[in-house]
Amino acid sequence: MFCPKCKCEYKDGLTTCPDCDVSLADLPGETREKPPKVKYGHTDYELVFTTFVYSEIALLKSVFDSEGIVYFIQGEDLGVAPGGLQARVFVSKEQAEESKQLLKEFNLL
Ligand SMILES: [Zn+2]
Repeated sequence: MFCPKCKCEYKDGLTTCPDCDVSLADLPGETREKPPKVKYGHTDYELVFTTFVYSEIALLKSVFDSEGIVYFIQGEDLGVAPGGLQARVFVSKEQAEESKQLLKEFNLL
């Protein structure tokens, strides 16, 4: 679901944008072509991991979710296609070191 005003994407379940107080709409196409907008304020993000392998993304997500790492992934859907774009994983700078440590523990780095 997307806010027609600020173009931010929200999880299913929300019906109004908490920022703009307008009804969310399901906008296909044009909005999805753009990189995801990050809704974490002014936190700086750092690229910690890139891969073409979908199973690595799946593992990374479960690890980061359980460890409370704030992250976002660019190109996640495209990464599964052979010869597609790389998926790129970003985490907040504060958690970058912790994230890399976790990636090493799970043999992703
Ligand atoms: Zn909005």
